[in-house]
Amino acid sequence: MTVVRSVTLASGSAIRAAILKDHGVAFDVVKPGLDESVIKTEAAQGGLGLEETAMRLAEAKCMAVAKNRPGLVIGSDQILEFRGRAFDKPANMDEAGARLLEMQGETHSLINATALAEDGEIIWRNLSRPRLTMRGMTSDDINAYLKEVGNGVLSSVGAYQVETAPGVGLFERISGDWFAVQGLAVCPLLAELSRRGAFGEGWKNPAPVLAGVVGSPISHSLSPLIHNEWARRALIAGEYRAVDVAPGYGPFVEAMEALRAQGFAGVNVTIPHKENALRYADEASDAAKTIGAANMLTFAGGRAYADNSDATGFAEALMATLGGDDKVESAMMLGAGGAARGVVAALREMGCARVQIANRTREKADTLSNEFALKCVDWAARGPALAGCDLLINTTSLGMTGQPPLEIDLSALPAGATVFDIVYAPLETQLLKAARKRGNKTVNGLEMLMHQAAPGFSAWFGGRPYPVFPRVDDDLRDLLIAELNRRSAS
Ligand code: NAP
Repeated sequence: MTVVRSVTLASGSAIRAAILKDHGVAFDVVKPGLDESVIKTEAAQGGLGLEETAMRLAEAKCMAVAKNRPGLVIGSDQILEFRGRAFDKPANMDEAGARLLEMQGETHSLINATALAEDGEIIWRNLSRPRLTMRGMTSDDINAYLKEVGNGVLSSVGAYQVETAPGVGLFERISGDWFAVQGLAVCPLLAELSRRGAFGEGWKNPAPVLAGVVGSPISHSLSPLIHNEWARRALIAGEYRAVDVAPGYGPFVEAMEALRAQGFAGVNVTIPHKENALRYADEASDAAKTIGAANMLTFAGGRAYADNSDATGFAEALMATLGGDDKVESAMMLGAGGAARGVVAALREMGCARVQIANRTREKADTLSNEFALKCVDWAARGPALAGCDLLINTTSLGMTGQPPLEIDLSALPAGATVFDIVYAPLETQLLKAARKRGNKTVNGLEMLMHQAAPGFSAWFGGRPYPVFPRVDDDLRDLLIAELNRRSAS
């Protein structure tokens, strides 16, 4: 018979308890009731570094509880190190604001020590040291953040709550163990608890998440690279697959039923199935209904929910380039296909007052212009119509590898305008090259692709076992560019 050891968490921290619970560990909580300042003073007097101090604190918490408890006892401590100094939790909101202001634009570490004791003896130790780089922020940004989250930040040494959406937005880059960032390096701990018989034979890892992208053709899709990279970074067990589904509503329904039976949490949907996805869903978001197509299906509680992240993906990519203050007043959109619908919905949502559309097939442009109150311009007149525009968007497939180039005379486009090409292969299309040469700001399709992927990841992987927020950053960008370069070279 397997003897299952009892587990005690020697900590009053709600986040540490939540992390353990979310990973299926059954445990009791006992607060160690230590005066940590005594240990810190002794460590400083003894010339100990911050890593040794954190470990000393973790061990002391562990032993304070282990002396009265049988089984395995976990103790943990986290010290924020910034410019060689340790920081305690801020005493009040003013101190929290000052701390965030001091650390903005710079990198700090969260030294995370975990110790395990049994029968009054420390039997295992682990040290993790994730590094976090904060965005450059003004005191107004910081005050707005603190106002939004409230004094919950006072329980964190960093004066932020990285596990929430506004908190993660304070950072430019986070590297290292995500669980250690939150307060407990759970992966090595779970492995050790398992080795020491804490789970008996019945314990299993949380079920891996399955998600994917369906379309035809689909082998070229970069979405698996994006989602699998985010899952890898967050240490989430799961897989995002590309699934080829033949055109037609019948094959689409059959494929969805099969994927749901396999336990898929959801799928992205691309050509030629975006309308099929909307038709198939039990419920649809306002965005999907407005656009008339869905690029996301989420399966939960026996129902299928349709959404469309093309519009937010486009808007976020544009805003990341323009910054919050640069408003788009007048835009010219080329194309009237599926992607154009998402772009025009985003422009309307962003409050763009004047949107012109030009498309090779005039009737399609007319349909879209009637639906969204756009000004229709002849395809032949697309160049001169650029006068006074502060944004030009190409949503046609022209300029894409294997397609004819997009021919357009940019001379009427104001120098301060931005040019957005949603094509991402090649990364810099002829249109973007010409725009860059004449001094216009440019945005490529890869930015939209990365941003439109984030809602799907949050919906399918991000809540397992607790919220994880996917980040569009240089590491992801570099990974995708390397893949595009590899493809164009082969
Ligand atoms: P779609 O529905 O097939 O629409 C294609 C558009 O391109 C139509 O407006 C079409 O005009 C126009 N077009 C095609 N060939 C043309 C030509 N020779 N001359 C003039 N116009 C031409 O495709 P879509 O889904 O909208 O996708 C369009 C492009 O956006 C693709 O390159 C796709 O990869 C890209 N995309 C990128 C993202 C991203 O996240 N970056 C997302 C979605 C799509 P007609 O109406 O006259 O046929």
